[in-house]
Amino acid sequence: MTLDATVIDTYPITPYVMGFRLQVPGHEFEYDPGQHTTIQFNSGSEKIVRPYTPTNLPGSDELALTIKRYDNGLASSYMHQKRPGDTVTIGPIEGALTLADTSRDVAFLASGTGLTPMMAMLRQYLREGTGQAHVVLGEKREETIIHRETLNELAANNPNLEVTFVLSDPNWEWTGRDGYAQDHLEELFDEFTERDFYVCGVPPMVVQTKERVAELGAPDERIHSEGWEDSAVDED
Ligand SMILES: Cc1cc2nc3c(=O)[nH]c(=O)nc-3n(C[C@H](O)[C@H](O)[C@H](O)COP(=O)(O)OP(=O)(O)OC[C@H]3O[C@@H](n4cnc5c(N)ncnc54)[C@H](O)[C@@H]3O)c2cc1C
Repeated sequence: MTLDATVIDTYPITPYVMGFRLQVPGHEFEYDPGQHTTIQFNSGSEKIVRPYTPTNLPGSDELALTIKRYDNGLASSYMHQKRPGDTVTIGPIEGALTLADTSRDVAFLASGTGLTPMMAMLRQYLREGTGQAHVVLGEKREETIIHRETLNELAANNPNLEVTFVLSDPNWEWTGRDGYAQDHLEELFDEFTERDFYVCGVPPMVVQTKERVAELGAPDERIHSEGWEDSAVDED
């Protein structure tokens, strides 16, 4: 089943990433935070369907999407041309990356737009969770960090939330951690057996990060991802 949604606002998040508020008046979106919808349209004779993950909580008639534009990317370029008042077709909301347990501590390990499911799950956890949450976001440079202000404000307002940014290509002013986020995990977490690890990003990052937390002691049932990334890396 598809729905026609109206774009009610668009806003820059970083030079390549835009935010979109989509609305289907009178419709209440029901989903588990972390799940994704799809944007669907025709390009010539081809039907294009691409997943995008709401960063907001369910229960309203709106979805907030965060979309990075790729220069030759069909759906991301299509979306970046949308303006308030335009209509887009969205598919059902589904997906396997959702919060397993709100009573355990959680680590959200993301790179780039892999942060989008984490934003929704983090919002759910800050409402319902009873433990500690730690977001570790890997990005290239300061200016490409998405949702930095939001994460910092959430951390300032929630003593049970910690946020760490790790930049792979920082400029000289950066005083935070640098390199790849997965190389910092041993220092960032004092134990790996009890908390849940949620991992999302480009497939190589997901695979390497899952391997690293497993090496550090996390049991399989505590490591959560969409699940398709291993085969995407095998195919490369
Ligand atoms: C479950 C799931 C949830 C997702 N949620 C989001 C989200 O919330 N926000 C978001 O921005 N994206 C998200 N994506 C990615 C999104 O679905 C598209 O793959 C992405 O927007 C590119 O689609 P496109 O049609 O613009 O590019 P395509 O036309 O498919 O690709 C054209 C070219 O773009 C480049 N390209 C495409 N994707 C990538 C990439 N990931 N890294 C580097 N180069 C690339 C390649 O050069 C490629 O050849 C999600 C993907 C999945 C599987």
